[in-house]
Amino acid sequence: MARIGIDLGTTNSLAVAYKDDKPVKILNSLGSFITPSAVSADDDGKIIVGQPARDRLISHPDRSASEFKRDMGTRTTVVLGGNEYTPEELSSLILKKLKADAEAFLGEPVEEAIISVPAYFDDNSRRATRIAAELSGLNVERLINEPSAAALSYLTKNGYEDGTYMVIDFGGGTLDVSVVDVFDDIIEILAVAGDNKLGGKDFNEAVARDFCKKNDLDYGALSSVEKAVVYRAAERAKMELSSVPMVMMEIPLEQHKYVLTLTNKELIRISKDIFGRIREPVRKAIHDSRKKLEDIDTVILVGGSCRMPTVREFIKKITGIDPDTSVDPDTAIAEGAAIYAAMKNKDLKDVILTDICPFTLGVAVNNDILNDGSKIMSPIIPRNNTLPSSIQRSYSASHDNQTGITLEIYQGENIHPDENLFIGELKLSCPPCKRNEKICDVKMTYDINGILIVDVTTTDGAKATKAFRSNSSVLSEDEIDRMRSKMEASMLIRPEDEKYKALIARAERVYEQSYVETRSIIATHLMNFRAALERQDIIRVRETYKALSDLLDTLEY
Ligand code: ADP
Ligand code: MG
Repeated sequence: MARIGIDLGTTNSLAVAYKDDKPVKILNSLGSFITPSAVSADDDGKIIVGQPARDRLISHPDRSASEFKRDMGTRTTVVLGGNEYTPEELSSLILKKLKADAEAFLGEPVEEAIISVPAYFDDNSRRATRIAAELSGLNVERLINEPSAAALSYLTKNGYEDGTYMVIDFGGGTLDVSVVDVFDDIIEILAVAGDNKLGGKDFNEAVARDFCKKNDLDYGALSSVEKAVVYRAAERAKMELSSVPMVMMEIPLEQHKYVLTLTNKELIRISKDIFGRIREPVRKAIHDSRKKLEDIDTVILVGGSCRMPTVREFIKKITGIDPDTSVDPDTAIAEGAAIYAAMKNKDLKDVILTDICPFTLGVAVNNDILNDGSKIMSPIIPRNNTLPSSIQRSYSASHDNQTGITLEIYQGENIHPDENLFIGELKLSCPPCKRNEKICDVKMTYDINGILIVDVTTTDGAKATKAFRSNSSVLSEDEIDRMRSKMEASMLIRPEDEKYKALIARAERVYEQSYVETRSIIATHLMNFRAALERQDIIRVRETYKALSDLLDTLEY
């Protein structure tokens, strides 16, 4: 049974395994490392996941969803093909796909995963991610913060060197900047800052608008399909500019061919505002980490938009540091998650990743203000404290001649213990105390794996210790079963079907982007292919599949 690392991204997701002492990127059923985080419902209400779903964002926008990671932990839902889906459910469909692809690729069952989440994800979003994992049938022992995963990937490649790192993650729709400290095998996130409305999408939009402007087209006035066609071409041109100096854009719209030549210099000019907005999160992350720019030893770039040479140069300009090029911006986070998953195997170096405590841990004490016998929470480890942490507090007797202590331990933010989650109880006797005299010290130690250790020491030196495991499963078995059967009802897709669906989705997209005369050729091929599928004629399916995909390849240069 294998264990994998998963980068569950806003735009793209991917999975990495750890085999023969190194991370191995998992190819999905379409032969790509990257699975777009998109879900679509087809005409019979069946669910399509990944690239074909992404293609359908253009051809069937009202039956397709993307960017649901932004809504994790909220009550937002979307309706696809008549069914309502929560962000957890949509994410679980992506995870399920990654799991199935990993199993096919590795040839063994995959039941456990480490999933990365943004460092700023709060408790709700983290819970939602765990729920998504449970729904997909994956065991998630823990989540890993994206910048920690990126750092882990860097350190594994370059050796564990103490230092201060800046991780810049520039994805499809978000920019996250983190300052990460590595000391004695402890990886600690010192600060995170970001702009959750800035990413590769903005470059696409800028190029699309520029294309229209130069061609005397009104971008705002285009139909939604035309807009999507221009937008897709803009994204492709932007991506190509990461490896070639100049790109010719050619878009057929309303029987007319529009063209534009794009260079990186031009791209910088039309994206001035975007570049300007990269500065602030970089400044803020440094500031909040109480470090100076001079303290940063290495800048690690991850996220698809960091493939852009213009972005790399801009970051070099504002930090004064030549960014590292040893990690792959697309896969670093998933690799880090896989490395962390493999660390359980003793032969791998063990590092400690710090995290933020998502809730408060404390004990119930008498309400001295009301003095009515009611109890209030006395926090010991406050929410947002860095983990692992160990904090001690002293408590005094609540009445004269007190000879025993009963500690009730709770987790939660409410001042009334009853409203919080009861974790457990610890009892011990003590020498007689007067009211308000110190009676004991309570030390709580909490690590990122959800283990809470409580030590109580009385004034005469007597000690008691108890360990608790905080709730690892966030849903009841019943809830999981109910949600799972609902999801399974809408799942189909044998792997071979999926390849066919992907081709159909692609053909439909290219059809929409083509001139009229080309359209009829595509339509004919598509019809032949569909007919073969319908008859389940495997030889004809193979022939027509090849004919159609060859045609699309030539049309999409
Ligand atoms: P997320 O973290 O949001 O899931 P990714 O890190 O996968 O996203 O980044 C996706 C973004 O990266 C998209 O906007 C895409 O256009 C952009 N991108 C991917 N490859 C390249 C490339 N070679 N050049 C420029 N941009 C790229
Ligand atoms: Mg990402």
